[in-house]
Amino acid sequence: TTALCWFRRDLRLDDHAALHAALRHSECVICVFVFDRDILDRLPAQDRRIDFIWHSLEELKEHLRALGSDLVVVSGRPVDCIPVLAQEHGAGTVWASRDYEPAACQRDKAVAARLSQLGKKLETVKDQVIFEQDEVLTGNGKPYTVFTPYRNAWLKKLTPFYLQAYPSTSHLDRLARLAETPLPSLADLGFTDTGLGRLGILAGMSGAAALFADFGQRIEHYQQWRDFPAVKGVSYLSVHLRFGTISIRQLAQFAWQQGSAGATTWLNELIWREFYQQLLWHYPHVAEESFKPEYRQLGFPNDETQFAAWCTGRTGYPLVDAAMRQLEHSSYMHNRLRMVTASFLVKDLLVDWRWGERYFAEKLIDYDLAANNGGWQWAASTGCDAQPWFRIFNPVTQSQKFDPEGKFIRRYVPELATLDNQAIHAPWQAKTLPDGFLLGRDYPRPIVDHAEQRTQALALFGLRPKA
Ligand code: FAD
Repeated sequence: TTALCWFRRDLRLDDHAALHAALRHSECVICVFVFDRDILDRLPAQDRRIDFIWHSLEELKEHLRALGSDLVVVSGRPVDCIPVLAQEHGAGTVWASRDYEPAACQRDKAVAARLSQLGKKLETVKDQVIFEQDEVLTGNGKPYTVFTPYRNAWLKKLTPFYLQAYPSTSHLDRLARLAETPLPSLADLGFTDTGLGRLGILAGMSGAAALFADFGQRIEHYQQWRDFPAVKGVSYLSVHLRFGTISIRQLAQFAWQQGSAGATTWLNELIWREFYQQLLWHYPHVAEESFKPEYRQLGFPNDETQFAAWCTGRTGYPLVDAAMRQLEHSSYMHNRLRMVTASFLVKDLLVDWRWGERYFAEKLIDYDLAANNGGWQWAASTGCDAQPWFRIFNPVTQSQKFDPEGKFIRRYVPELATLDNQAIHAPWQAKTLPDGFLLGRDYPRPIVDHAEQRTQALALFGLRPKA
């Protein structure tokens, strides 16, 4: 029997659930990847994610070629390409790792239907999470909507069994012998090289392994340093988790076994990731609107000029601006700053959280619908287990607390580099500013007054209908 293994957000060979299943159930396996035109056609040519995927595929191809096989890469709509590939190679089954996003579920349904017309089937398996769908439910059989009890139930269910690696590399002799086929170039696909190397973003399995090895040395200090954007305190693995260039089981296993306070806090973050994934699975409407119905009709003024100032890092609030410029420059933003900028957009600028969610979705290299939507709904207080509506981050005190020496600000807002450690967090409040520096000319004055906006936000959120 022959099968296809359809790679999507699992661009690796080790501990790969779908590849393992394909190799176990078939005598001959062909690995395939489809550049999905339905997704690609909506993206700008400079999209870094396509660049990241492309380099990851290049590495995957290299590994498969070394084994006498190859990765067949095509560009088109999966609903057309996958059945054609299955026909061409005489495959009866197509194996893939399960994806929980609404659009991906629809795509898979359409592919499965087309395959079934040909007498073939699509089999999907759990790969990108430790627990999926209905595996962690409340005592009443309902999905959890509060994180802490979800985490407790998640940890209670965890046994070494769930962390075991799939020995996907043990039957590699069953990979089809294939003549080498070229990888379409980025230019052929309508994209450009975005300079990932210059940014220090290493794609593929090797990039993930290098980051993980480095983070492994620092994990014990994660709890202490994770909130300070100027410090190398976090793992930077999000893009690799997004595209599956490293296995979640390997990461969770390491953190679980390590057991230090830092590792336990980090494992908690991996559980947040699954919390939001199961939430999206059970409540797909969150992708469109507030989880909580009472927040669906908030009358956000949505000032477009202020929104543009936020996007371009010109709000006059140094930490917010530094964060937005980090996003523009590197396609990444530190978690603390995602919380600060999201809160600032919604509760200081009074802009609908979905505007910010969409902007992050365009810019983040690690963009993930479940995590991004969860993060935005958390910051906007519209989510299930969110920041209470009356809790509003103060962008100045956040800056003093988490970037006390202004190191991060100086890196991304160089026009403030000469300000002292006090003035840099709120230049408009400084008694003295460096000679030659003129606020309003060299750096914007704050576009809003935080105290005033806070009062307005409280009024806006306070007006919501009662739950
Ligand atoms: P680490 O601190 O090393 O954490 C390890 C991993 O845990 C991350 O790689 C990520 O997969 C997961 N994780 C950590 N925090 C969270 C969280 N709060 N929610 C879900 N998963 C988490 N994360 C994304 O992967 N994609 C997004 O599009 C995304 N958008 C966000 C938007 C907002 C408004 C907020 C507040 C958070 C968002 N996050 C998102 C979560 C978090 O900010 C990033 O996962 C994290 O900053 C990535 O850096 P890291 O890999 O070094 O994280």
